[in-house]
Parts: sequence; structure tokens; C-alpha cells
Amino acid sequence: MRYSSLFGKTSKTAPHDADSVNARLLVQGGFVDRVMAGVYTWLPLGLRTLRKVETIIREEMDRIGGQELLLTALQPKENWVKSERWDNVDVLFKIPSQTGKEYALGPTAEDIVTPLVGSFVRSYKDLPLAVYQIQTKFRDELRAKSGVLRGREFLMKDMYSFHTDRADFEAFYEKAKQAYLVVFGRCGLKAKVTEASGGAFTKKVSHEFQVETQAGEDALVMCRNCHYAQNTEIATNKEGDACPNCKAALFSTKGIEVGNIFDLGDRFSKAFDFTVAGADGTRKEIIMGCYGIGVTRLVGAIVEASHDDKGMIWPKSVAPCHVHLVSLAAKDPNAAAKVREAAEKLERDLEAAGIEVLHDDREDARAGEKFADADLIGLPLRLVVSEKTMAEDAVEWKERTSADAKRVPLAQAVEDVKRFMAA
Ligand code: ATP
Ligand code: MG
Repeated sequence: MRYSSLFGKTSKTAPHDADSVNARLLVQGGFVDRVMAGVYTWLPLGLRTLRKVETIIREEMDRIGGQELLLTALQPKENWVKSERWDNVDVLFKIPSQTGKEYALGPTAEDIVTPLVGSFVRSYKDLPLAVYQIQTKFRDELRAKSGVLRGREFLMKDMYSFHTDRADFEAFYEKAKQAYLVVFGRCGLKAKVTEASGGAFTKKVSHEFQVETQAGEDALVMCRNCHYAQNTEIATNKEGDACPNCKAALFSTKGIEVGNIFDLGDRFSKAFDFTVAGADGTRKEIIMGCYGIGVTRLVGAIVEASHDDKGMIWPKSVAPCHVHLVSLAAKDPNAAAKVREAAEKLERDLEAAGIEVLHDDREDARAGEKFADADLIGLPLRLVVSEKTMAEDAVEWKERTSADAKRVPLAQAVEDVKRFMAA
């Protein structure tokens, strides 16, 4: 990919309305464009990262048996009335139609998925079942803020599971919890599982996945010594108390909720009259679980957790590209042509080896400007081809996480990059 033709460019100045690091860096880096409060367009660079995060989520949901589908975002009012949520969900966007009807713009999808599964599943033999989607959600948040962390339109992965007995549900819930930790780990985040309230949709306890950062909105108490963490919304413990697990002193901190899993019990299956025939011929109640990940929020959380004063620092797994290749134009036209040729050849060779390259091939940008952009965009590795490195048949190598640059032989660069990416 060539920077000169890339749609969406970096900007030297921070957006005046940025209220958080992710809002500033994602906009400045040309990853997203703010359309209005809480509503963002994803530009090519940002979309590459978003897609990689989605792929990780898909792989892990598929691994535990989830089947992907795509539910509707425009939802019939009747379903929301049936579940008694039309008048009880404050963030629900209600859309009037010229026909006089009203619709909901889905903030979540229990009201669609429950009758859907109910229409296909008749017998206990068809269960358990888990279906999921990655889809745009809409919530009329009173205060959209913190860039992509709290939007009015955002991408969510929502999975729903259906079971005839509690033990089976519990086992799947635990599997999903572990899969979530794998997802966040693969995205370069250390997420903590916290107990929290079940939220507006259910009375039960739920489990949140929190990424500790000062940008977070949620107040947490945590233990440094073990895995214990609790959302202070419901916490029975406070800073200084002994950890119920290991007795070390708890401390308070802030977190971003990147995921949330719920025991829905029969809340929705009852509302939609969904039961199945059991082995003994009697009707069996359905227990449901719901498992959400804020996909766009997750990208914002990665930026909040991984940046410095120069820009973003993407983990290899979700960086929009692997290598930021910078070619520096020489004054002498012959030398300039040689640099360009060598850089383009390196770009081709890297891409042939499966390495994703963003080649800053601009001829009108100074070295300092290109380096500042490379730091801002935050790809894992920066390679520089210049008249100076060419004189040594070398390329300059600098990792985003390190302050030091070194030279590696040009002929060896592709192999070294492959090794670096695999490490
Ligand atoms: P919050 O407490 O932050 O308002 P929530 O608990 O209402 O979120 P859930 O219903 O649990 O959200 O939704 C599942 C996941 O979707 C959340 O864990 C979060 O990662 C993400 N999410 C929720 N609301 C938003 C939003 N307005 N913008 C971006 N992501 C969101
Ligand atoms: Mg939640």
C-alpha cells in the first residue's frame, strides 16, 4: 500500500474536540473520521485494524461452536413490546415510519434472535445452540464521549446461547469466558474479569471484561496480587480492604468495559413463548446466555492502553499493516531513482512474503515529517531506505517499541522481517 495514494491522511494538528487519547490519535492518524458526536466513519487504515479484531473474535467464537449469522438492525416495535422493553430501555432509538408504524434501531438483539431460534428449534435434540453476529448497534447515549469508546453507533459482537439445562448453560458460559480472555489477549490486552450487575436487561450478576486504564469510565477495585477485580457499582469491597481471594490490599482504579457476558435465564424465552419438547415428551424451558464484545470500543481500548506521546503503538496482531517502509528522496536524480527502485523492490518482496507494507513513497515530504507520521500511525516496524543506507546495501530498522535504530543488510531484510513478525 502506498501512502501517496492512501485515502485518509494523517494530520499535524490534534482535533480541537478530542476528549480522549483514542479520539485524538485515531482521527489524527487518519484511522477514523468524526461525523458527529459518537458517530465515526472508519477510513481504510482504521478499517484494516477493525477487520483484524473482527477476525480474531470470529475465530474464537467459531472455536467454541458459535455459528455466525446477521440479524437485522431495523427491528419491529412489536418484538420490543413483547419483551416489555419498548418503554423501558432509555437508550433505545425509536424510528417513526411514514406509514405510521414505528421501529427500533437495535441496541442489542435478544428480541430478534429469540423468536428466530424459536421458529427453527423444536426439540431438546437441537440444543445447545450458540449463534453470533458482528453488527452495527445503535444506542441513544445521553453523552457520547471518549472517541470510539462510547458511540451512538458502534460495532458489537453479540452471541446468544440456548440450553435446556442449567449445567449445560454454566459449562458454555465458562467456555465463553475463557474464549473472551483469549480474544483480548490476542488483541494485546490484559483484560480482567469483574463481577457486575446484570444491567437493565436482567436482574442477575454478569461478568465484565475490563481493561485497566485511566481513560476508563468504570470504577474498579482490583488486586495486584491475584486476578480479583470488581466493579464498584456493586462492589462490597473498597480500596485498602483485604482481597477476598488472597488477602492482599485492594486498590481502586479505572477500566474500560470491552466485553460483558450475561446469564439471561428464561427472561426472553418466556417473553417469546419459546420452549422445546423434552426427551420425556414434556415442554422444557430454555435458558439463554448473551455474550457481547464492543468491537469498535475494543480498538479504542487498544489505543488507550498502547500509545506514547508520539502516537499509537499497535500490537502486531491488529496493526493495520506490519511494516512502515519509508523511502527518503535524494537530491541527486540518479540517487533518487536508485532509492526509489530499491524501496519498491523491497515493498514487492515483503508483500510476496505475506508482509503487509505501508510504503511512504511521498517525494514532497521531509524525513522528519515521514518519521513523525510513522510514529503516529504506530506500525510495529519502520524500515528506511535512503541514499545513506543504500551506500551500505542496508536498510534502517526501527521497532515502534524501541528508541534505537540499527542497519540490516538489504538482502536479508525480508527474512528478518518474517522472523520479527513471527516472534
Ligand atoms: P456501558 O456500561 O459502557 O454503557 P453496557 O454495559 O450498556 O455498556 P452492554 O449492553 O454490556 O453495554 O454491551 C456489550 C458491549 O458493547 C459492552 O461491553 C461494550 O464493550 C460495548 N458497548 C456498549 N455500549 C457502547 C457504546 N455506546 N459505544 C461503544 N461500545 C459500546
Ligand atoms: Mg455491559
